[in-house]
Amino acid sequence: MSLGRLAFLLVAGAVWLPAGAQAQRGTDAPVVAVRAGRLVDVERGEIRRDQLIVVRGDRIEAVLPGSARPPAGARVIDLSRFSVLPGLIDCHAHLIGDLTDADALLPLQRSGAQEAFSGVRNARSTLLAGFTTVRDVGTYRALVDVALRDAIVDGTVIGPRTAVAGAYVTVTGGGGELVGAAPDVTIPAEYRFGVANGADEVRARVRAILSGGADFVKLIATGAVLTQGTKPGASEYTEEEIRAAVEQAAEYGTYVAAHAHGAEGIKRAVRAGVRSIEHGSLIDDEAIALMKEKGTWLVADIYNGDYIASAGREQGWDEEILRKNDETTDAQRAGFRKAVAAGVRIAYGTDSGVYPHRFAARQLPYMVRHGMTPMQAIRSATLSAAELMGWDDRVGSVAPGKYADLVAVQGDVLASLETLENVGFVMKGGIVYKRP
Ligand SMILES: [Zn+2]
Repeated sequence: MSLGRLAFLLVAGAVWLPAGAQAQRGTDAPVVAVRAGRLVDVERGEIRRDQLIVVRGDRIEAVLPGSARPPAGARVIDLSRFSVLPGLIDCHAHLIGDLTDADALLPLQRSGAQEAFSGVRNARSTLLAGFTTVRDVGTYRALVDVALRDAIVDGTVIGPRTAVAGAYVTVTGGGGELVGAAPDVTIPAEYRFGVANGADEVRARVRAILSGGADFVKLIATGAVLTQGTKPGASEYTEEEIRAAVEQAAEYGTYVAAHAHGAEGIKRAVRAGVRSIEHGSLIDDEAIALMKEKGTWLVADIYNGDYIASAGREQGWDEEILRKNDETTDAQRAGFRKAVAAGVRIAYGTDSGVYPHRFAARQLPYMVRHGMTPMQAIRSATLSAAELMGWDDRVGSVAPGKYADLVAVQGDVLASLETLENVGFVMKGGIVYKRP
């Protein structure tokens, strides 16, 4: 570890780095044994009492009964009064930028460096909130998320494992555009990297985004709550255009996540073969049946509406945005409940970035209030989220061979998911970032 990095970690306060623990692999890697009073087994859907999790380097080596002796030389972390879970996963986060406020053109007032440093702050805050993996579903200034992801991987920045969208694929003036400038003002190209009209342009922009280093494609299929002048219920792409994105992404071995509020837009996206529907606020029974049939994931940010309604009014957000938020919040929760009952695959996603990243776990109790069991809610934010991302070979459960990504809260987590809003322990890749 460089002196510079050590200094940063010390300044960072809550972050604690065991000497020599980073990213070592093999038989001489440091060994840590974590005593878990309760281990949330998301694969079997049960709590296992008194377990010993053996971590070697950045991976989980074994999960043993608590009576087992820790390996020789292992450093023991005692979480016997805690519930230990796999690191949480948010499939709908925005790590780049400052909080959305009344000014839709805020990104134009910030330099690329400011945008990047906002990502440094948000990534750290997300990790310390217990989210060791996120899917970042878009930034107005293209590819800043790619740079952030790489800086986290090489250790420059502290943050979660991140898959990124690079930019928004959106029609001209659509839900993924910066809006609010005068009609004769030209928005710079780096904010319009994914703007595409017609199947051929969609293919071209998908190629540019994936060549630019994005991991998957975020396509804006309908209008958006937070984009002035667009209607959440209105479709913005044809099924043919969405299919062009899906096919082009598949050529690169990846998939499309579709922002879609309106029922027609959801159905077009599902028929076209997208992997996930984001928001799904105005979903209807036909769309739910179609998603169930096709195995499409639903990522519904059902906490977010309350935050926008209160903070948005306090901070004087645009009336149009507040009205659209009111029109979608209850509908989204009702649709979510129906989708849960119908057995649609659901992964946790919050739209954090619209609200402070440290609140990223606030949605878990909402999911229980709207039809899930506590274990289902936890699974949506761990194993299911990992499956949606295609990362269930490395994260999403506490199992041998997976990354040692663990969080812990005091007491019985199933009795109160609210405790996850304030996790007491965070380990990512065998490194402890927060401890009791
Ligand atoms: Zn979003």
